[in-house]
Amino acid sequence: MSDCLFCKIVAGEIPSSKVYEDDVCYAFNDIDPQAPTHFLVVPKAHIGSVSEITADNSTVVAHIFEVIAKLTKEKGLDSYRVVSNIGEQAGQSVFHLHFHVLSGRDMTWPPG
Ligand code: IMP
Repeated sequence: MSDCLFCKIVAGEIPSSKVYEDDVCYAFNDIDPQAPTHFLVVPKAHIGSVSEITADNSTVVAHIFEVIAKLTKEKGLDSYRVVSNIGEQAGQSVFHLHFHVLSGRDMTWPPG
């Protein structure tokens, strides 16, 4: 999508601090980190949020979780949180599917 921030980051039109990239997904550090480690993993192809996942595109989600498992192992993170906000009330501010990976501090439950 031409006006999507994360599509522009994936395309390299907006700079980002890259963590990982393959044919399917792109991972980069969050610009406003909420934990000592806070990166985002996004599909390269535009999907608005979890609510747009269907049988036709769900393999990308399995792939992203494989990548999260790999990256967190490589970084030596054995405790971390994976979050995806869906909709404004839940805190979604960028409407391109993304998974936050947060680690390195004590976390509370339930989230605010
Ligand atoms: P959401 O609020 O769950 O949609 O998450 C969007 C995330 O994108 C927030 O944590 C923002 O800090 C992050 N963000 C917004 N713009 C940028 C950017 O240009 N680079 C990296 N992260 C960004």
